[in-house]
Amino acid sequence: MEEQKGIIKMSNKSSTIITNYGTIVNNNYYGNNTENRTTTDNDTLYVIDNDELSKFEKHKNYALSIQQILYDYYKAIGKHTKAENIRTCGNFLLFRQYKNPEQTNKLMLANFCKHPLCPLCSWRKSLKNAKITHKTLKIVEKEEFLYLLTLTISNVNPITKRIIRDLYQNSKKFLDKRYYSKSYLSQFEITYNPEREDYHPHIHLLFSSPMEHDTSENAIRKNNELWGGYYNQKYQITDIRPVEDVEKASFELCKYLCKSPAISTTEAITGIISPTTNLRQFNYAGLMREARAEAKEICTEEEELEIYNLSQYEYIEQIYSWITGQGYKKANNKI
Ligand SMILES: [Zn+2]
Repeated sequence: MEEQKGIIKMSNKSSTIITNYGTIVNNNYYGNNTENRTTTDNDTLYVIDNDELSKFEKHKNYALSIQQILYDYYKAIGKHTKAENIRTCGNFLLFRQYKNPEQTNKLMLANFCKHPLCPLCSWRKSLKNAKITHKTLKIVEKEEFLYLLTLTISNVNPITKRIIRDLYQNSKKFLDKRYYSKSYLSQFEITYNPEREDYHPHIHLLFSSPMEHDTSENAIRKNNELWGGYYNQKYQITDIRPVEDVEKASFELCKYLCKSPAISTTEAITGIISPTTNLRQFNYAGLMREARAEAKEICTEEEELEIYNLSQYEYIEQIYSWITGQGYKKANNKI
């Protein structure tokens, strides 16, 4: 018998979703509480918060042109599975709506490609990262002073793995020499200048220190001179400021590797694929690293508690399929 598209089949520990994009099996599906499962033909009961869905739509729309460029690139070098995963990234979303008083919506399953340059996946990752970073900083601020340091170098074209590696190594050296700190979260970022057609790589370091530091213009001038010396130039531009709002700082730090849509031409994208392959965009060290591990545990416990609390309620599920030009539309599925 031919399988019908959009059907979710469940067993105790796994679910199979047959979509227009193939069959997806998720072995970690945790909706195995069959007594609480709602069976309904009336899918109009399901009303997902439009704001939530529109956020996905906004980022999927951003992602379209870049996903196409990445798809062409990987297809041309024979990496067909990777290419296909990128092209179909976010083409379906499975939401579960609980019948709790808040009518909580949870994204349970989606086909994300997880490519570091994919705007949809970068957005998801940055949200998760910002939440953990916020908790990390709340732990560290009880013990040490926090600063946000940005180190930039002159624009380059082409950009290479070597330039990126040197930037990271030099930033560690600089932090140790100037602020005697080995405790940091660092984030590497590249912006693109479409007029000059070159890249602007820079690094943000959120570091902690047991002592207060001068952040006056005079201190910044000294920073510029020292940092410039690493690149045999009179100076390079740097910035330092104390962290006053840990939540704001977390969102500032947890940005995308590359901002879109400024970096959306074929040349600009393909120029950074190779140098950023297997790049660790975020790095952690010292006290920050320890606090981050603690923060991750807290986040996991909170998530488990939320899932446990939600498991007391009935729920219904709905798949949304992406239709270019129209956005996410309810797929014809029954549960
Ligand atoms: Zn993606």
